[in-house]
Amino acid sequence: MCGIVGYIGPKNCVPILIEGLKRLEYRGYDSAGIALIYNDSSEVIKTKGKVDELEKMISNKNLIANLGIGHTRWATHGEPSMINAHPHFNKEKNLFLIHNGIIENYSTLKKILEKEGYKFISETDTEVLVNLIDRYLKRKNNLSTAIRYALNEVEGTYGIAVIYKNEPDKIVVARKGSPLVLGIGEKENFVASDVNALITYTSQVVYLEDDEIAEVYSNRFVAKNISDKEIIKEIHEVDIAIDEISKGGYAHYMLKEIMEQPESIFNSMRGRLLIDEGTAKLGGLHGFEDRIANSERIIISACGTSWHAGLVGEYMLEQYTGIPVEVEYASEFRYRHPIINSNDTLIFISQSGETADTLAALREAKRKGALCLGICNVVGSSIARESDAGVYIHAGPEIGVASTKAFTSQLVVLSLITLLIARKKQLSIIDGKRLINEIQKLPEYAKKILELNKDIGKIADKYFNATNFLYLGRGYNFPVALEGALKLKEISYIHAEGYPAAEMKHGPIALIDDNMPVVFIATKDAVYDKVISNIEEVKARKGKIIAVASEDDNQIGKLVDHVIKIPKTVDMLTPILSVIPLQLIAYHIAVKKGLNVDQPRNLAKSVTVE
Ligand code: GLU
Repeated sequence: MCGIVGYIGPKNCVPILIEGLKRLEYRGYDSAGIALIYNDSSEVIKTKGKVDELEKMISNKNLIANLGIGHTRWATHGEPSMINAHPHFNKEKNLFLIHNGIIENYSTLKKILEKEGYKFISETDTEVLVNLIDRYLKRKNNLSTAIRYALNEVEGTYGIAVIYKNEPDKIVVARKGSPLVLGIGEKENFVASDVNALITYTSQVVYLEDDEIAEVYSNRFVAKNISDKEIIKEIHEVDIAIDEISKGGYAHYMLKEIMEQPESIFNSMRGRLLIDEGTAKLGGLHGFEDRIANSERIIISACGTSWHAGLVGEYMLEQYTGIPVEVEYASEFRYRHPIINSNDTLIFISQSGETADTLAALREAKRKGALCLGICNVVGSSIARESDAGVYIHAGPEIGVASTKAFTSQLVVLSLITLLIARKKQLSIIDGKRLINEIQKLPEYAKKILELNKDIGKIADKYFNATNFLYLGRGYNFPVALEGALKLKEISYIHAEGYPAAEMKHGPIALIDDNMPVVFIATKDAVYDKVISNIEEVKARKGKIIAVASEDDNQIGKLVDHVIKIPKTVDMLTPILSVIPLQLIAYHIAVKKGLNVDQPRNLAKSVTVE
């Protein structure tokens, strides 16, 4: 998820590691650290703060080393803290490891290691891996062999870089699911999670593939597969100018985050689907499943985009679990006199996990004795800590103020909770498996929609001068209409309203004339025919219609001005896809208007005031 950088060669690696980490800052992170091996000594320096802070800590020490690794962490297991920051190390403090990704079976491995006498000082999954490698190192006496044995036992994803005091001539790296590149220099070599960290030093890179391990020496490297067979790797020439890379090659964080959705959607479901049993496995809800399934009512409370995710969650949970669901603005909920019973379940959704109103609503509900669950992106955040149980969305850092990938990941997590609870109730194993099958296709479908980016940009070009927009949808796509309108308001400052399509006749229809763009989310779902009637009503009043439609819809093109076609999935999952074109419309309109997309006026990323 976050940043890895490493150096071996004749130069002092300290400034190289710091610069590399700075070049990876655009990814967002919560803590940073480096490990160095020099002469017969080693040093680990870590901070909960930023790379600047780390640099200050190092500058007091006057360190010089020819071998080192550095990391920026985006916490997944254990809150951001100095202890949880990477590099992690073994008891003897001669083996150092940095890791991007998640070791899914870390608790099983931890128990095994604890029985053998290993002690852990951090809460991370990563510390388990360094000790697992240590265990094999003591048996095999060779770093690469020990890593290979350890990785054979690991389930999950990793990009790792490891250094060992007794083998100071190399960095060993491996990957599965998290990127890793080698940078090839003159009598010096580099490793990184992202070429951006390397391009100041070399343009020659080698991309590691999944299940490959490489030993990187100062003057050569050896790449092998997981069965220890040597592989010949091609050296690529990268052609990136330094000023292109601050946002990973994208013009804005928001665009980068929209484009990352195939990956972030996948990360939200990874390791959480039990295909044979047709259900979901959510470690953070373990032990609470029956209480949730037996609750009399579910109340979802959130603000902004997360509130829209909650509305979709209401439709999902009511359809599949039969439990009545209410969705509340956290700011209202905390100050009125909500009736909360001890057999209610409350779900609080917040990307940052720090949203002041949502946190206050959680505290109020806890006081009343209800079961309180959190759905957050930021690990160790206040809502995550204070709720009774919960699920991280694992979308990766979201920096753009307008939330995009966190929204789709919130929906994935809500669909997994729905599946889990529905399977405890009335949903059959066959239907559970059908849902899983569709959930698994979402990353691929999202990718297909993102290929339409240019076409969507052209549509946006036509309407960037509009002063009002209407977004209309029904059923599962009604909250998507609200979210589409919110995205446009947030970053383009165009007034936009989202409405349930049928409500239009009760007021907003008065606004429609030939200057009014109307975005319909009209996928082929249970209410499709009804939405078509609403489209006719707008067309009769000469509104300009942009429709998000299903790919097999051959009729809608005749009715509307522009069609954006998206893959067809089950109704419950449609919002995860139908929102993507709306994110892109808002993005392109704001860019065309020359606005600051990532930091729109008056808005903050994490709303920690009420
Ligand atoms: N899962 C690891 C941790 O929480 C690595 C996180 C990352 O990718 O930065 O420490």
